[in-house]
Amino acid sequence: MEDRRVSLRPVISEIKCDECGQGFPPKQIKRRKEGEIETTYFTCSECGHEYPVCRTNPELRKLAQRIANKRKRIDKLRGTGPAVREHLREFWDLEKEYKIKLGEFNGVEKKMVQ
Ligand SMILES: [Zn+2]
Repeated sequence: MEDRRVSLRPVISEIKCDECGQGFPPKQIKRRKEGEIETTYFTCSECGHEYPVCRTNPELRKLAQRIANKRKRIDKLRGTGPAVREHLREFWDLEKEYKIKLGEFNGVEKKMVQ
């Protein structure tokens, strides 16, 4: 049975601040909402400079919610055999769709989505 890891862990462990040169872990993820657009960003622990991670619209957030629900479902089903397969496939499809749409919305290539 296929067993790809479902968890999305941030790959970056430390970032060097462009403003003050301080290295810091991008821990303090914050969200800000402007109208329908939500911006995810983190700030330098030293100087407070903001680093945007991505922006989402309602469609993207809905999709992210579906992915989260699907993941919960898969976690519950894990180890129960073929039933989980279909869900996994749907999960990967949703995830792929999300990454593409997020990339399009943010006007960048997929690489910014970890
Ligand atoms: Zn800084």
